[in-house]
Amino acid sequence: MSTDVMIYADELSKRFGNFRALDRIRFEVRRGEVVGFLGPNGAGKSTTMRILTCFISPTDGTAKIHGHDVFDEPLEVRRKVGYLPQRAPLYQDMLVWDYLRFVADMRGLDESTFKARMRKVVEVCGLAQVLGKDINTLSHGYRQRVGLGQALVHDPPILILDEPTSDLDPNEKAEVIRYIKEIGKERTVLLSTHNLAEVEAACARAIIISKGRIVADGPLDEIRARTGKIRYVLAVSEQTAERGKAPTATEVQSALRAIAGVRSVAELPTDEKAHGFELTGDTGGDLRSDLFRLVVSKGWTLLELRRDSQTLEDVFRDLTKGDERRDRKLGAPDDDDRDEREDKTETRRSESPKEAAVSGG
Ligand code: ADP
Repeated sequence: MSTDVMIYADELSKRFGNFRALDRIRFEVRRGEVVGFLGPNGAGKSTTMRILTCFISPTDGTAKIHGHDVFDEPLEVRRKVGYLPQRAPLYQDMLVWDYLRFVADMRGLDESTFKARMRKVVEVCGLAQVLGKDINTLSHGYRQRVGLGQALVHDPPILILDEPTSDLDPNEKAEVIRYIKEIGKERTVLLSTHNLAEVEAACARAIIISKGRIVADGPLDEIRARTGKIRYVLAVSEQTAERGKAPTATEVQSALRAIAGVRSVAELPTDEKAHGFELTGDTGGDLRSDLFRLVVSKGWTLLELRRDSQTLEDVFRDLTKGDERRDRKLGAPDDDDRDEREDKTETRRSESPKEAAVSGG
């Protein structure tokens, strides 16, 4: 394993009872990467992150953070990683400053290191206005920023953020993503979300997980190209024509279908002025001149013609179709005991304020 590998998962599996939540997943995240960890609800994102941050143990496989095994060297792992779980571990009745000092104490930071770190944390997370406020008076967006602050206070080189923008309004989301991008300039970040726009905004690479398995891993451009299809949008006027009568939607649709290289044609919702269609063709081809010639030969009035690669959302939907828990029942009753034990351990951990506060350390 190269020394540049900051997060390493090899053949990682996790069962809860006879249910397989993770199935031999493998991936690496290198120094300086900001990677989107994408998947529908229940795909296994949080389970992976909880293993990587030593909150639960895997059933099989190896996970390492900064070269340290999560099972053999949990303290080293916790020093290297900042973790923001789905529900930020905040104490509602504490002032923001006191809470972050408490987290720093748990992390073993002395007073001068804490103050020096706070200057950076306040700047990066935009907390200057709220340091003297009670956490329970803050908006969701500010609470998430405090959550990011607690993950950063000990200056970890790696950040693991579990759906940091869920429950935020669009403005708050944009702000939190802006802070994550800022943080990502100097750190390695694994960011789980099911919001594809966030991945497009903050990450150069994505890992897509479905039903506990990795179904895609690579730069966003490569992932977008995976379906091997190119999309076109075409609209012609339904009110006027250059020659003769304006066409009906059915006429346009059948003419489009007849063009060689067109794989599919679907009508788009439009107002009464236009007939709009979405077409797909093969990657590598370009059907725009054929489409243009068709419109000219028919005498229709062209209102719009564009060619896009498939969106990340199209690929995500293709790759994660039918992501349902029941597909993964294995029927291995002997795992039940082990997982019940683990679940109890997790409950005990979350009851401990100190451990919950440092979320992974
Ligand atoms: P995601 O974060 O992608 O939404 P999770 O990792 O939280 O998905 O969950 C993956 C699957 O594992 C889900 O079906 C979830 O219900 C199940 N699961 C997670 N934690 C437990 C647990 N402690 N006990 C039993 N099942 C669990």
